[in-house]
Amino acid sequence: YFALANTVRDQMVGRWIRTQQYYYEKDPKRVYYLSLEFYMGRALQNTMLNLGIQSSCDEAMYQLGLDIEELEELEEDAGLGNGGLGRLAACFLDSMATLGLAAYGYGIRYEYGIFNQKIRQGWQVEEADDWLRYGNAWDKARPEYMVPVHYYGSVEHGADGDWSKPCKWVNSQVVFAMPYDTPTPGYGNNTVNTLRLYTAKSPNSFNLGVFNTGDYIQAVCDRNLAENISRVLYPNDNFFEGKELRLKQEYFVVCATLQDIIRRFKSPNHPTPSTPKVAIQLNDTHPSLAIPELMRLLIDIEEMEWDRAWKIVVNTCAYTNHTVLPEALERWPVHLREMLPRHLEIIYIINQKHIENISKHFPGDMDRLRRMSLVEEDGEKRVNMAHLCIVGSHAVNGVAAIHSKIIQDSVFKDFVELSEKMGEVNKFQNKTNGITPRRWLLLCNPGLADLIAEKIGEDWPKNLDQLRELTPLIDNPAFIRSINQVKQENKMKLAGFIEKEWGIKVNPASMFDVQVKRIHEYKRQLMNAIHMVVMYNRIKADPNKDFVPRTVMIGGKAAPGYHTAKMIIKLINSIASMVNNDPIVGDKLKIVYLENYRVSLAEKVIPAADLSEQISTAGTEASGTGNMKFMLNGALTIGTLDGANVEMAEEMGGENIFIFGMKVHEVEELDRSGYNARSFYESVPELKTALDQISSGYFSPLEPDQFQHFVDNLINHDRFKLLADFQSYVECQDRVSEAFKDTEQWTKMCLANIAASGKFSSDRTISEYAREIWGTKIVSKNS
Ligand SMILES: *Cc1c(COP(=O)(O)O)cnc(C)c1O
Repeated sequence: YFALANTVRDQMVGRWIRTQQYYYEKDPKRVYYLSLEFYMGRALQNTMLNLGIQSSCDEAMYQLGLDIEELEELEEDAGLGNGGLGRLAACFLDSMATLGLAAYGYGIRYEYGIFNQKIRQGWQVEEADDWLRYGNAWDKARPEYMVPVHYYGSVEHGADGDWSKPCKWVNSQVVFAMPYDTPTPGYGNNTVNTLRLYTAKSPNSFNLGVFNTGDYIQAVCDRNLAENISRVLYPNDNFFEGKELRLKQEYFVVCATLQDIIRRFKSPNHPTPSTPKVAIQLNDTHPSLAIPELMRLLIDIEEMEWDRAWKIVVNTCAYTNHTVLPEALERWPVHLREMLPRHLEIIYIINQKHIENISKHFPGDMDRLRRMSLVEEDGEKRVNMAHLCIVGSHAVNGVAAIHSKIIQDSVFKDFVELSEKMGEVNKFQNKTNGITPRRWLLLCNPGLADLIAEKIGEDWPKNLDQLRELTPLIDNPAFIRSINQVKQENKMKLAGFIEKEWGIKVNPASMFDVQVKRIHEYKRQLMNAIHMVVMYNRIKADPNKDFVPRTVMIGGKAAPGYHTAKMIIKLINSIASMVNNDPIVGDKLKIVYLENYRVSLAEKVIPAADLSEQISTAGTEASGTGNMKFMLNGALTIGTLDGANVEMAEEMGGENIFIFGMKVHEVEELDRSGYNARSFYESVPELKTALDQISSGYFSPLEPDQFQHFVDNLINHDRFKLLADFQSYVECQDRVSEAFKDTEQWTKMCLANIAASGKFSSDRTISEYAREIWGTKIVSKNS
């Protein structure tokens, strides 16, 4: 593997150097994508694919008597992300390079990425992800660009004590940020961009005081303390955990990145450029300290006036919101003062001017001031980082049309109204997420990619809208049969993998019904689990009745501290062991927990799926991107009108997707009228039976009350209204089963999905960011 990886990398470095030289000479506007997560997965096959050397490498390995797929399997995933947000950053890097943008990803080189998940007796167990153990073939340390990052200490003000004038930050503690560069090749265009990830290095002088008192060994051991900053990725998805180390990580990447941005900005030695040279995109609020940090650099280091500095910051920064779940919104307690004293001062000044601005446009509206303040005063004082990002950015976007509407109409409504009063145009925008069709079709599903290329040529991976040209082939029975045949081959391959990995024999003729994503209550894996029980009960009640066989697969990691999510995993595995070992059920129903779901497993599972489960409560999943991967690979979707599902349905037409459940306004109405979960439990017989079984220990005979609390909580609270949607879900699943019986008609719907998926290329998403937020032209150099 390392011999092949280094050979492939060799093919890339010439292009990498030439691309970077070209940017240096032309000095175009640079785009900086700041993210605490980059969920890259494996690099080898993607690099060969994007460089156009995959078939020659295949051939070369074959000549050597080696199996290239076996070598590819030896590579560790770069799992520096939790789920959708981190994977989006990875897809964006691919698209930015493919479109030839002078773009950079900036983040942290965690020594340990997302944990490896083991399932032991049905429970999730976490193992450290020691992904660098055997070395990393793809990155390169750049010690010449190492920079200091300061924490703690205090601020010395000028004689007038004015916080908005240049100050000195003194007596701070320093850590160094050492960059490692990973090349990110564009597809077929010779562009190779850079992902720069920082690792923490202790200064040589660390703990010098202890050296002098003689405990040399202790002093050297203590160097770990500083280097812990880049040790491990926080494993929460859509959840804010206000830990000091996490805040240190957030400042670490922001501080190192801004020093690098300013160094590069100054290096061409232009006096003052006439057009903006830098766009900074904040992937959620995680890098929000970029706003006060850039203010600090401009005022304290460059000695700029506040108002001029502020204009630069706002024109440079843009913020992407990824969720409306309140528990996910970052609200740092002001004890951030100890760690970042100058930044808190700057935030207070920003807030003071912000409050004055609101008062000017909405005189006397005290409640509005309280709602919009950057500093929340009720209870423990906290800084609302989303508010900071909105005020400090010229553009704020949601990640799907419905999500952008929700943030504009409710969560950030006050800010939209202020923006209107200020005469700003287009500050609040939508940028519907996308996925890279290179990894998510060309790489993971070569059978389907070849079939498509036979019909419409080889250009579609760069111009995914061309998939529309497949639409007329719905009336071509031979083509429909080949689509089905490729799906069948993918299913056989996955079945082989499942048997090899977990010893479960699945029926490749059954419907592969798949839900893979982080385990979260709002994503409602529990609803899927209860449906499994309903199917089980139906088979048991009448074993000879016609039943459309299914293999239900669920995969995903639970945050280690998320008790309810871990119980959901245990429940699914408990149901699985009962169902899979029941001879009456046979191969009508099998349940597979896909252990350790990650990018490389997604690449195996998604091409083999018949049915994609996208069943979040309407209004909770901002976009989803898993939904798009399934659509592109010819799986049909059962889903709610949530996130990007809405736009997927629009693109393919409602007849090609299975939509069920409440819409956003119906969820809101149910909340207003007072949601009574128990009434649904009482009135839907199959639901009541299933919940009573789970609660009374039918699936956990050794520990009969294991799931009792869990079910009680569902019947009494049910925050995500699973019970209200359940009947509609089961009826919809029955329509799915009915449709699956007619293979030809089903496959036609699959083709309609594929043909309509062009909108969801991340190339489209990035083109929109470039035009409507970054003000960068897409020009490819091609040489
Ligand atoms: C795409 C992807 C996700 C996001 O899936 P959603 O269904 O949108 O939540 C999460 N994890 C991995 C490994 C992915 O590839």
